[in-house]
Amino acid sequence: MTRQFIDDRLNSAVVSTARNPIAPRQLMIDGISCPASDGKTFDVISPIDGSVLTTIAAGTAADIDRAVASARKAYNDERWVGLAPKERKRRMVRWAELIDANRAELAVLQSRDMGMPVQLAYMGDIAAAVEAIRWYGEAIDKLYDEVAPLPSGETGFIRRVPLGVIGAIVPWNFPSMISAWKLGPALAVGNSVVLKPAEDASLVLLEFARLALEAGIPEGVFNVVTGKGSEVGAALSEHMDVDCLTFTGSGPVGRTIMEASARSNMKRVSLECGGKSCSIVFADAFDPAAAAAATARTMFMNQGQICNAPSRLLVQRSVLDQAMAAVESVARSLKVGSPLDADSDLGPLVSAKQYASVTEAIGRAAGENTNLQVDGREVTKDEGFYCGPTVASPVEPKSFLGQEEVFGPVLAIIPFDTPQEALEIANGTRYGLGAAVWSQNIDTVTWMSERLVAGTVIANGIGGTAIEIPFGGFKESGFGRDRSLHAIDKYADFKSVILRSPGLRG
Ligand code: NAP
Ligand code: MG
Repeated sequence: MTRQFIDDRLNSAVVSTARNPIAPRQLMIDGISCPASDGKTFDVISPIDGSVLTTIAAGTAADIDRAVASARKAYNDERWVGLAPKERKRRMVRWAELIDANRAELAVLQSRDMGMPVQLAYMGDIAAAVEAIRWYGEAIDKLYDEVAPLPSGETGFIRRVPLGVIGAIVPWNFPSMISAWKLGPALAVGNSVVLKPAEDASLVLLEFARLALEAGIPEGVFNVVTGKGSEVGAALSEHMDVDCLTFTGSGPVGRTIMEASARSNMKRVSLECGGKSCSIVFADAFDPAAAAAATARTMFMNQGQICNAPSRLLVQRSVLDQAMAAVESVARSLKVGSPLDADSDLGPLVSAKQYASVTEAIGRAAGENTNLQVDGREVTKDEGFYCGPTVASPVEPKSFLGQEEVFGPVLAIIPFDTPQEALEIANGTRYGLGAAVWSQNIDTVTWMSERLVAGTVIANGIGGTAIEIPFGGFKESGFGRDRSLHAIDKYADFKSVILRSPGLRG
């Protein structure tokens, strides 16, 4: 049966805009759409068919200098931070409303750019971005500072102050949501931002910048410099006038950003890097097969290109057969096709490069004698970068697939016998992003959740995001948290201000 999109808005946006030509895009610096300093551009490739969708300005280090100068000027002249908190709130909320009003068209644009199924872009990524910007906007006039208990005659204020200019570097997999998790808190406390999107998902973020201006966020407060990470991203990380660099992406790039900070001005750095998250199904789960199936569905969402995707399914041996059958049935039932088609569960991988990397990883696992229960490489299309759900079982915890992030639709099933063994396997990678535990035994759930080294632990459920709680990881998954009011602390710091009454004390 042919499926329908969730609502008419999305349906009509797909029908009316999916084939429209996309005008060339430029940088957004100081509220002005402008070309790169040397006039160069790069092609935007559609992962659906490999065609060139449009071109975007390929920024340079000189463009980063201009964007940072514009952000600094906007910060110093207080055009944003100097507004009454209520007014900043009003404009941030307006911005969220404008993105929401254009959400269906933005979803189509994003889907064409980076291959996310359009309904996921609409209901997931961009809806979460709207929520984040609104949530932090609404918080602006509800954040109070503190008064310290000093001796009488002295008043000690503990003021939360912005840092100044924030550099944000984001990946392509959930471009809208991840950017909003950074833009929301950074702008809410009054900073200016220079955003460097991933080359493979820049289009929608340039639209966010245009809508920010329309919402009344002043020129220069939110700048976007598109272009190559090795040039634009590196220039932003090394800049002497950037106060904080917030990054989501791969571990290797995260390391270069830390080094760049150390070499330059010791700017604060926060990193959200990769993961090898797990879902642990105990035999006493309410429904082990359903838990395994839910894990598979979550794993294959966005073609597995999710940093905390549960890429390891740990299953207690007595329910292994039923879990494997449930996962296989999910993997074989999911439809791979155009992300603009309501029938598709998986779209293409983001790029030819990602396709090569994912299929190579599957080949490597097969070469190491890992049994491929379902091989996604068998899904072939005439054009585009498609790879189907892949299931490997059983997988050795210390093997390539048990340890390395593939960032594609590849699920490794790992059997275990005891809770202690499950814990050792779960914690036995260099990552520490997410974990799910399925058991009806509260002792098992409590024992595991206290010992799992993961930024997020969920019991008897999987997937979803919540702006109200922090998100991030331990170990090489990075440090610093997005989401919740705690995220604000990445973009602000405390200033102690002591007022003495001269008439009363010396
Ligand atoms: P990536 O290669 O690290 O790229 C991330 C961003 O960094 C992009 O904007 C990229 O620009 C830029 N960049 C590349 N080289 C740079 C350099 N030398 N200096 C500064 N910036 C540079 O990662 P990706 O391929 O986009 O995303 C996949 C990875 O991100 C996975 O490992 C995944 O686990 C991780 N991820 C983590 C989270 C999380 O929250 N923990 C969320 C999503 C993704 P270009 O696009 O122009 O190269
Ligand atoms: Mg693209």
